[in-house]
Amino acid sequence: MKVLVLGAGVVGTATAYFLVEDGHDVTVLDRQPGPGLETSFANGGQISACHAKPWAAPHVPAQAFRWMFKPDAPLLFKPWRWDPPLWKWGMRFLRNCTSERVHINMDRTLRVALYSRAVLKALRQKTNIQYDQVTNGILHIYRTTAEFTEGKTTAAQLKTLGLPQDILTAAECVRVEPALKHVAKTDLVGGLYSVDDESGDAQRFTVELAKLASARGVVFRHNVTVRRLEAARGSVTRVITDQGEETADAFVLAMGSYSPHIARDLGLDLPVYPAKGYSISVDIDNPDAAPTVSITDETNFMVFSRLGNKMRVAGTAELAGWNTAHEPTRVAPLVRNAKSLFPEASAYQTLNAWSGLRPTTPDSVPILGTTPYQNLFLNTGHGTLGWTMACGSARIISDLISGRTPEIDLEGLGLERFA
Ligand SMILES: Cc1cc2nc3c(=O)[nH]c(=O)nc-3n(C[C@H](O)[C@H](O)[C@H](O)COP(=O)(O)OP(=O)(O)OC[C@H]3O[C@@H](n4cnc5c(N)ncnc54)[C@H](O)[C@@H]3O)c2cc1C
Repeated sequence: MKVLVLGAGVVGTATAYFLVEDGHDVTVLDRQPGPGLETSFANGGQISACHAKPWAAPHVPAQAFRWMFKPDAPLLFKPWRWDPPLWKWGMRFLRNCTSERVHINMDRTLRVALYSRAVLKALRQKTNIQYDQVTNGILHIYRTTAEFTEGKTTAAQLKTLGLPQDILTAAECVRVEPALKHVAKTDLVGGLYSVDDESGDAQRFTVELAKLASARGVVFRHNVTVRRLEAARGSVTRVITDQGEETADAFVLAMGSYSPHIARDLGLDLPVYPAKGYSISVDIDNPDAAPTVSITDETNFMVFSRLGNKMRVAGTAELAGWNTAHEPTRVAPLVRNAKSLFPEASAYQTLNAWSGLRPTTPDSVPILGTTPYQNLFLNTGHGTLGWTMACGSARIISDLISGRTPEIDLEGLGLERFA
């Protein structure tokens, strides 16, 4: 079957790889000059099933309100901006802020994340793909007792859904990650250790996987902007680009935060809104003082991953539309916290600050699967966990296109849940 994949981020590239492995004739279209140059470029690097708790939760509206006027708050949104897509997304988000919805959404996300982690491990074994991977778990650290208690409650829920985590004292955290020794004893109350989670460079992975896919016959057409999809009699018939038109038997929409713009022309309402986040990537000057285990600082909503001789620090979220402009006030907390946790790891001279748009759904669950158009498939809306869920989501889409039953239940993962 001829398949067109729209988008060469980590999600689209992984989809192309699994499709060609299944024997399809695959072309990928992307507006960038290479794979993984938008949101997949410099993310936190974590393969973190342990982050399956959705953003929408009972305490979040009040917390977001308190943060509304704080320019360096971890989550920033300004509902008074003229932004109808944000208002609509926000109403759906609020409907997900109940304990019942948290449990349902956590179950759905974790289902994809655990599956995806297994698919990634199998892919690594099969291909020996290298992407500065570190496979010794993710350590969540807590600075206050209240947050630690809350973290342990979430850990108990995740455990019932299939993700065990070790509960550690502050001293045990430092034993797992000796580079944490600079954190004042009074500033670290404990941690949760998700041993089977991992980290690695998503962009490097995307580039390497694109090479493997190309070697198997996938055609990557870069510097091509998709303008719209056209359909007739319940099927997509062609893609109109800035360089002409393309036809195929099946189409996969994997354009991250830009997927809703293309879907809208077909009458599909994809509740995907960009949540802008930032990262810095600093040279490691003193390897013993930099983390070797990927860290999540639960108090400051930041993650730390070691990618070769660099340390990636990522975090913050701003719901402010489709713009990637850099605000120094949003980068500053990353630098401040990195210096405080790992003061001797780097001279912090060149920050390589970056921002990207997480394709976020109101329930934090990706949108995977079929559409009312029989040959259009969705692989988008992965939010904060697109790197974590890329391989599993890709495998699922290739299974559907190949006429196989996916290996996990797709209940609650499709667009129909927003009907
Ligand atoms: C600060 C930050 C930290 C993060 N940390 C993590 C983490 O630790 N772990 C994790 O799992 N996830 C993390 N994420 C989320 C993760 O990076 C994303 O979910 C993931 O990259 C989304 O991949 P994607 O392929 O769907 O989108 P993208 O990577 O954005 O790919 C979409 C592609 O579509 C192309 N495109 C868009 N519009 C058009 C058009 N009109 N024509 C042609 N091409 C088009 C773009 O060029 C792009 O290449 C983080 C995100 C951010 C911002």
